[in-house]
Amino acid sequence: MKDNLVTVIGGGPAGLFCAGQIARRSPDTQVVLLEKMKAPGRKLLITGAGECNLTNSAPIEEFVTAYGGNGRFLKHALYSFPPEKLLQFFSDRGLTFYTDPNGKYFPETGRAQGILRALTDFCDEGGVSVHTSEAVHSVERNDNFFTISTDKQNYTTRHVVLATGGKSYPATGSSGDGYLIAESLGHLIIQPTEALSPLIISGFPFKNCAGVSFKDIVLSVKKSGSRLKAKEKGDLLITHNGLSGPAALHLSRVIEKEDVVSIDLLPMRMQNEDETLQKIDSLIRRNPQKMVKHCLSELVDGTRFFQVLLKELNIPPEQTGQSMSIKNQKKLSHSLHNLEFEVSEKGSYDSAMVTAGGINLREIESRNFESKLVKNLYCIGETIDIDGNSGGYNLQAAFSTAFCAAQAIVKKIGEHPKPD
Ligand SMILES: Cc1cc2nc3c(=O)[nH]c(=O)nc-3n(C[C@H](O)[C@H](O)[C@H](O)COP(=O)(O)OP(=O)(O)OC[C@H]3O[C@@H](n4cnc5c(N)ncnc54)[C@H](O)[C@@H]3O)c2cc1C
Repeated sequence: MKDNLVTVIGGGPAGLFCAGQIARRSPDTQVVLLEKMKAPGRKLLITGAGECNLTNSAPIEEFVTAYGGNGRFLKHALYSFPPEKLLQFFSDRGLTFYTDPNGKYFPETGRAQGILRALTDFCDEGGVSVHTSEAVHSVERNDNFFTISTDKQNYTTRHVVLATGGKSYPATGSSGDGYLIAESLGHLIIQPTEALSPLIISGFPFKNCAGVSFKDIVLSVKKSGSRLKAKEKGDLLITHNGLSGPAALHLSRVIEKEDVVSIDLLPMRMQNEDETLQKIDSLIRRNPQKMVKHCLSELVDGTRFFQVLLKELNIPPEQTGQSMSIKNQKKLSHSLHNLEFEVSEKGSYDSAMVTAGGINLREIESRNFESKLVKNLYCIGETIDIDGNSGGYNLQAAFSTAFCAAQAIVKKIGEHPKPD
């Protein structure tokens, strides 16, 4: 049985940053970090396709809206440790950054590896004792300490930081263990579900158009036959079995099997079906002898996509524009604003970038991420019921929550005697 003051479970960005902060600010404290994989930060290495989209240049007020309905919970953490401080932390360690046109920050090296190295160096400098290949199986609360059991040994500790991540990409080590640990300590887990996940549509008619993308479409989602659930404006990507790209990925947190998604392909160019109908009419008048597939192709960006759309609507693509019936013109105009698909399923945790759901926020203090149920237990990063849009919002949440928990623990440590 080993005795220490602080144990961080999980060596992702949240766990590493939290452990490093505590060790640096409280140098006499023995901080142990337990990581089940052979090396920490496996998921961090694949972020942003290996380039690591660390954070975003959006103002904090806008940031908060990038986490769906739960974003307000993060407000204090984001103001306490905003993107500028995160970037400063890494630039103090020699990294430089650039922003892309969407405000996403990436390291100039184009490699997530540098971010991970800065974090592991930070832990080493502070003397954090990092134990890899050591999975935590259980955490028990006894009087004023915790007993942690791993597959190697047991530890007693005064403060536990749960930083085990969500369930997505389980091969990186994040497979939902933290939910079971939190549940065993009395916490309610909001049903985890895949988020930032592609949408799968069975019998997808546009499968041969995989790779075609649309800028600034509007994607809406509703339960079959019922009212609107959510709406998102953004770019869309056609895949071999459904929809991806930011608009689809961002909506995936609220989408369930059998929901219906509706795409407005022209919101920026034509306001409504009537306007589009007029445009169809004027294009036909301009070239009455041209085939429909040619004279109307400028309505949408992908020619291939347009041809499949005509086929789906039973509109003969090779008839001349002047012989296209008004009924078919209306059908086309309607579909360009309301192209509907039933979602068969979402991409599994193997392809979902984050997990929606997790430890119930009502049971966590938003100022320092301490459990309201179990004193000296802190829950940070993706373990809690927070998931962000793509754009660097998830990593920023991991670092900001880690910072607040570390600050609170450092403040408390003075109040406790060191273990013998
Ligand atoms: C493909 C992909 C690309 C992404 N790209 C971006 C991006 O560019 N920008 C962005 O902001 N976000 C991105 N994300 C999301 C981001 O990676 C996560 O939100 C972030 O890593 C969460 O950090 P975390 O520290 O909370 O958890 P994790 O990074 O999941 O780390 C949790 C750690 O805990 C360990 N662990 C789990 N259970 C145990 C246990 N029982 N005992 C000991 N250790 C345990 C795991 O092995 C893991 O190392 C991406 C995600 C994926 C999958």
